Amino acid sequence: MHEKEKIYRKDTEMVHGGQHHDQSCGALTPPIYQSSTFVFDSAEHGKGIFTGEAEGYVYTRYANPTTDVLEKKMARLEHCEDAAFFSSGLAATMATIFRFANTGDNIIADDVLYGGTHGMLKNDIPLLGIEVRRCDTSDIEKTRSLIDGKTKLIFSETPANPTMKVVDIGALGELAKSVGVPLCVDSTFATPYLQNPTECGADLTLHSATKYIGGHGDVVAGVVCGSEELVHPIRVKRRVTGACISPFDSWLLLRGLKTLGLRVKKGTENAMEIAKFLVDHPKVGKVYYPGLPDNEYHEIAKKQMDDFGAMLSFDIKGGMEAGIIVMNNLNIYTLAVSLGDCDTLIQHPASMTHSCYTPEEMAEAHITPGMIRISVGVEDSQDLIDDLSQCFDKI
Ligand code: PLP
Repeated sequence: MHEKEKIYRKDTEMVHGGQHHDQSCGALTPPIYQSSTFVFDSAEHGKGIFTGEAEGYVYTRYANPTTDVLEKKMARLEHCEDAAFFSSGLAATMATIFRFANTGDNIIADDVLYGGTHGMLKNDIPLLGIEVRRCDTSDIEKTRSLIDGKTKLIFSETPANPTMKVVDIGALGELAKSVGVPLCVDSTFATPYLQNPTECGADLTLHSATKYIGGHGDVVAGVVCGSEELVHPIRVKRRVTGACISPFDSWLLLRGLKTLGLRVKKGTENAMEIAKFLVDHPKVGKVYYPGLPDNEYHEIAKKQMDDFGAMLSFDIKGGMEAGIIVMNNLNIYTLAVSLGDCDTLIQHPASMTHSCYTPEEMAEAHITPGMIRISVGVEDSQDLIDDLSQCFDKI
């Protein structure tokens, strides 16, 4: 934590955490320091900043005052010492891997991950001479069997996109600690409002801030949170790779965070209502939502999350053909990838977000060809149910 201040309950932290009124004129909202470079008081001062002997900003690729406010706030929300924001979630993932693994090393990653992460691990990370070993990281013994002296990172995602698999962070964190390998958890679906992986046993928490943290479909950004010792060198990779966030995007994320709790609460209530409707519908197969009491991950989710979140998936009977009828006939749902927005978004993982999985990889990850994913927004739940219902009538 940058500042040793009292941590309030999460609804209060969402609004006030890490934020102070602007000292220069009392503005409630932090200013957008839309400046690429910063002026030194003197040549000596400039030199001092570069050597670390003086305080001050140099250049927005290194650090920016608006982004600093956001990073302080995010660190508090994740109950961590530090947070580093990036130009996207994938940039945060890349910098994290780049920080820990070099040519000749290996990393372990879950078999169910966002499609873009999967593609990067399959096609790009191996080009650096880093081996990527994949398995179901909720299988602790299997994960253990893949670790050797060259393993530098364990990477998991929970709840996972799009199957809603929930990995026991405590159990995986215990394994990671016992072998001295850092565990990074992508907690995008859960948001800092519902889950704090580093409190459960992870070393690093990662988010695509494009999603719930922004919340309005107008920013692409990512963040990694953890101890200062772990996050600082990852921030240095941001400087080196140039994957810095723009000050305006930092400001939009600060605005988004103020309503994160409200949006997540409403989305979660809506998701539960939709899940109950889907479970009872004769045209629906499996419903993937950990909030349902008979879901295989219900108990683990209850243990490590404060609620079950606003993401869910389901299989429609009649497969892809029926799925197309549903997706093409919705009125309120928006047919689009991404997630975590105020608007309810619907998409087909096998042909969209997860299309870089081969059929075999999809089967391994339990992503079914007819699976449909919904990012439940903050609209009225009955309207959302009625809209799905009129589509199901068309099948
Ligand atoms: N992690 C998860 C779970 C995601 O769903 C996504 C994007 O959809 C990412 C990471 C990548 O984030 P970004 O699109 O901000 O690069």
